[in-house]
Amino acid sequence: MKPFSTPIASPYSTVVEMWRAAVDEAGDRPFLHSFDATWTFAEVDDRARTFAAELSRAGVGRGDRVALYTQNDPIFVVGLIAALEVGGIAVPINPMNTTRELRYQLEDSGARVLVTIPSLYRAVAQDVVGDTAVVLTVVGGHTQWTQQGEEVEISEARVGEELGADVLSAESIFSQERREESVPPDISAEDIAVLTYTSGTTGKPKGAQNTHGNLVFNAESYLEITGLEPGQPVLGIAPLFHITGMVGHIMLAIRARSPLVLSHRFHPAVMLESIRRRRPVFAVGAITALMALADSPAQEDGDFDSLTTIFSGGAPIAPALADRLEGIFGAYVHNIYGMSETSSPTHSVPRGEKAPVDPTSGALSVGQPIYCTRSRIVDENGDDCEPGAYGEILSAGPQITSGYWENPDATAQAFDGEYLRTGDVGFVDGDGWFYLVDRKKDMINASGYKVWPREVEDVLYGHPAVSEAAVVGVPDPYRGETVKAFVTLKSGHRTDADELIAHCRANMAAYKYPRQVEIMEEMPKTATGKILRRQLRD
Ligand code: AMP
Repeated sequence: MKPFSTPIASPYSTVVEMWRAAVDEAGDRPFLHSFDATWTFAEVDDRARTFAAELSRAGVGRGDRVALYTQNDPIFVVGLIAALEVGGIAVPINPMNTTRELRYQLEDSGARVLVTIPSLYRAVAQDVVGDTAVVLTVVGGHTQWTQQGEEVEISEARVGEELGADVLSAESIFSQERREESVPPDISAEDIAVLTYTSGTTGKPKGAQNTHGNLVFNAESYLEITGLEPGQPVLGIAPLFHITGMVGHIMLAIRARSPLVLSHRFHPAVMLESIRRRRPVFAVGAITALMALADSPAQEDGDFDSLTTIFSGGAPIAPALADRLEGIFGAYVHNIYGMSETSSPTHSVPRGEKAPVDPTSGALSVGQPIYCTRSRIVDENGDDCEPGAYGEILSAGPQITSGYWENPDATAQAFDGEYLRTGDVGFVDGDGWFYLVDRKKDMINASGYKVWPREVEDVLYGHPAVSEAAVVGVPDPYRGETVKAFVTLKSGHRTDADELIAHCRANMAAYKYPRQVEIMEEMPKTATGKILRRQLRD
């Protein structure tokens, strides 16, 4: 029998129901570890409920958006649960985002609440919230680390009094007496729980709607795929704002009644220290992060002994690297494939099996369609391809998004009936293993972080000297791909690569700005004047 052929279903219809059951069953067991601190399920619930009461008081309720702009800190999880408790929709925001990006996401989602941390509030959010629909900003203290050369310093980030009158500290909310229980709104599996921002195939970032049903289904999938036992810790190596962290960490830990190990943000030495201390059993993250752990000079004997179940998704894995990592971790790294729109996995390598490698393309298989999931390869006309033939991967199943937030056109374009068009190009072999070989979308995949050329080009066009800009992904030994820009200049204007790089750097998250800029006399174009991106890439 094929590994994922047994149908599964979540016993819960909403994340709130799943959370309640976890608190009832495992209230006194650890749920969040963050450096020295450990919060049990009941303690997180207590905080989430006082937080939810505060949201209700601010008039935030069913369908309202609550933005979560933090690192991998406990306040993210508390804010998420509180938002869902009042029937709201959580909007996770990449903490690397700068002013322009944060403003866009708050405006597009229409968020009424912003949950953040002191450093991000001061550096970015305080200049932005005033221009948006945000009525309540909550800042949570946490344990952070900073790097001084090679040294990493761990410290407490307290919420200072200088934050302003319209800003609440999370601590002040948690210290309130718990009020009358508010009656949770009647939400169902179809209600949107989270908006995960992604650019889809083109254009501006869009909020992919992950419904309660999507999330509880893939929590169940992760439980089955990983075989995680209650109480076995999950390593929070992926960012929580990304769908992998949201589902493969938070939802799975709730479902399994397991602790989640948080380390503020990724640093190999800090993460290794957390591993030594909390002995996680399961990890899912981008291959670059796993590689950084494996190659860290801070590693000590036995560090990886507890990690018996390892998965990697979000970016391609070179087959030779999978072998090398298995040698270091002592556990095989299983490939897992999905996207924001599919609430994390649609395909996975079954636990205990090894992914085959395609001899022609050299690609490592991303696995087989998981439980209750159907996947097809289609040609340009939308007809099914024969095994071995390249086409676009389409997927259907209980984890697929209900569409993009307030964007019916993009939603219509993304679907072929019930099948989501992934924009990934691949094929299926005769045994049902799927492979990714290319992308229809122009997306650049830098260590699992997705960069959309259009966005970088828009920022380049904002520079006074730039006449034309085209951005492509070029191979990079560490990040997989990195960002390269080609520009032509307006006549009479002068600038250089360093200045253009600095301009981009000031206006976007660090993983997006071009690492290379080439100033050209002329852009290669089609007869109709379209820039030949592919030619530039080649
Ligand atoms: P995101 O929405 O950020 O999760 O990005 C989803 C995209 O990441 C997919 O459409 C793929 O292009 C890529 N991706 C995800 N998982 C894998 C994988 N296991 N191997 C190769 N690419 C992947």
